[in-house]
Amino acid sequence: MLPVVATLLGGACALPMVHESTRTVDLVVAATTDVHAYVRGWDYYANRPDTVRGLTRVATIVDSLRRVSTELPVLVDAGDMLQGSPVAYVAARIDTMMPNPVMLAMNAMQYTAAAVGNHEFNYGLPALERAIRQSTFPLLAANVFTAEGKHRFQGWAVATRNGVKIAIVGATTPGSMVSSGCLVRVRVLYIWIIKDVLTRAEKIEVVFELHSCSS
Ligand SMILES: [Zn+2]
Repeated sequence: MLPVVATLLGGACALPMVHESTRTVDLVVAATTDVHAYVRGWDYYANRPDTVRGLTRVATIVDSLRRVSTELPVLVDAGDMLQGSPVAYVAARIDTMMPNPVMLAMNAMQYTAAAVGNHEFNYGLPALERAIRQSTFPLLAANVFTAEGKHRFQGWAVATRNGVKIAIVGATTPGSMVSSGCLVRVRVLYIWIIKDVLTRAEKIEVVFELHSCSS
């Protein structure tokens, strides 16, 4: 059977898709992006309810999907989770001993995987690595390398739904080299991600490529 290849791009990216298959696959995919540490439906700056943002609002939708789906939906995030609200600042700079509240919320929501966004680097690599250790799902960045040319983060993960293996590939914007250049010492490569995955995982039937490319 020919593989199904779907490219899922977050933020303001374009959405190219390629399909080659001899059978129908029923998959439910839910995606978030630019959570920016809004855990609750609360405007932390104005100290009042926020009717637009918040993982708790997303959780309501995801829970309703789970109730009507025969299989767990694939739940992914395209990056920029760990920066943007006072919650993120406290977790990264004030109380670094407590578990990161954003990771705890996303763990509870049973995210399948997330891409490392450019703002994940804002508080430096140690804060990001601490959050990754606290997550029960992989944070992916296939195109981030060390100065020695090795992968700096997990690049991709596999989930199985309806008997179909799904590869989820994460990629972060090379703009991180500029926006967080003084905090990260990484080399960024941004090509051949899907080809690389298909070469290494012949039995994978669906590939989602999660790009963080927002601001
Ligand atoms: Zn963002």
